Amino acid sequence: MKLHELSLQETHEQLSSRKISSAELTRAYLERVQRIDPQVKSYVTVSEDLALEQARQADERIKSGDGLTTLTGIPYSAKDSLSTRGVNTTCSSKILENYKPFYDSTAITNLNLAGSVLLGKNNMDEFGMGSSTENSGFFTTRNPWNFDRVPGGSSGGSAAAVAAGLAPFALGEDTGGSVRMPASFCGVTGLKTTYGRVSRYGLIPLVSSFDTIGPMARSAYDVSLVLEAIAGHDPKDGTSRVESVQNYSESLKKAENLRGLRIGIPKEYFVEGLDKEVDASVRAAIKQIESLGAEVMEVSLPHTQYAIPVYYLILFAEASSNLAKYDGVRFGLSERTTGDLMDVYLKTRETGFGAETKRRIMLGTFALSAGYYDAYYLKAQKVRALIRQDFQKAFETCDALITPVAPTTAFRIGEKISNPLDMYLSDVFVVAINLAGIPALSVPCGFSNGLPIGMQVMGPHLSEETLLRIGHLYQSQTDWHTKHPPCW
Ligand code: GLN
Repeated sequence: MKLHELSLQETHEQLSSRKISSAELTRAYLERVQRIDPQVKSYVTVSEDLALEQARQADERIKSGDGLTTLTGIPYSAKDSLSTRGVNTTCSSKILENYKPFYDSTAITNLNLAGSVLLGKNNMDEFGMGSSTENSGFFTTRNPWNFDRVPGGSSGGSAAAVAAGLAPFALGEDTGGSVRMPASFCGVTGLKTTYGRVSRYGLIPLVSSFDTIGPMARSAYDVSLVLEAIAGHDPKDGTSRVESVQNYSESLKKAENLRGLRIGIPKEYFVEGLDKEVDASVRAAIKQIESLGAEVMEVSLPHTQYAIPVYYLILFAEASSNLAKYDGVRFGLSERTTGDLMDVYLKTRETGFGAETKRRIMLGTFALSAGYYDAYYLKAQKVRALIRQDFQKAFETCDALITPVAPTTAFRIGEKISNPLDMYLSDVFVVAINLAGIPALSVPCGFSNGLPIGMQVMGPHLSEETLLRIGHLYQSQTDWHTKHPPCW
């Protein structure tokens, strides 16, 4: 078996029994990245020197036997919106092209403490705006299953890296589907965490009230190991949750069946426009979950149809305010041609931001402007409350909900990029979850024409353990998550 084929647990066993070293493992991954990534294009930065140094330190730690964790010595990659000290953090935007933060985001710090090894940073849609990585200011990542298809977005680089065996796990960010959708398109397991479960400190914000950091890996079990390492309260993030972090992996090991669990199937998610094969695969997965002992029932989330407009309106508004700091004075790119301050602002934004980012800033500024604020932003916030209530009601009668992640499998590169509305609509099943702040897991559950299909398992706030248990038991009975693309 090749090193990149090992699960996180197997890798840990090899490392801790010193059958392999972290240096050897890290070099094997770096070599794969060098060989395979020119086709996939999942990385924007490869931090080779740092990786080899972190691997050396991990090997010393393993040798001394002190403070070993399951992730000690294991490499990973991170979406390029997570600040990494001294390593380029660009959000795949020209405006941050050479930006090197002087501190790590808390999620990265936690992985440093665990002794993990950062291989590099993954490509994404600029500032997380998109569903295909085509909005990256640098290049488009390709779906490892079919290079003519998008990997999904905006954490497309992270999902593609995991799917192509270019990282055993990756950190993604989910504001409106950006972990789940690429996980689904690339056939990996991805978790959108409860809002506040993982500190956002050092995550370059898109929408501060939606943003979450979540793991992407090859199985629910691997995801549970990463979640244990990155979750927890952080005084540096005022919205971070104080509840203690569960031992997810331990509880997965003990899980035997899903008896007593009530699963709701929201009827608004199985509607016209849903691809037939996606529909069939998700329904077959639900049957499988039923056979594990769960009780399945239909439920209704009546305000689902408003999720897309409400999500995008709030996104435009909050993003336009979050992006106002890129003015050519304080961060990144600075176009100082004439010496006139107004010119600096205008030229920097003109050259630094891509088309989608500009579109969203303009729409957001408009929605927040005097006279329109009440009609758009405030109204959207009110409907957001109704969508949240839909979920609260559903969770009175069931413990989790299951839906497809996306209405189709990965679409063609170029297919939707010239029609923003079409692109937004591909998020139809994922954005309501961010409006409600609840967690959701994307689990591979089939293929159509050689492209992966994902099911989405969601639950109430802080129900990560339940979601991972459903995913894990499902994966113990199926092999979709063990399939690999040709470039593997
Ligand atoms: N498709 C979503 C958007 O374009 C993705 C946002 C995200 O999760 N970062 O807004």
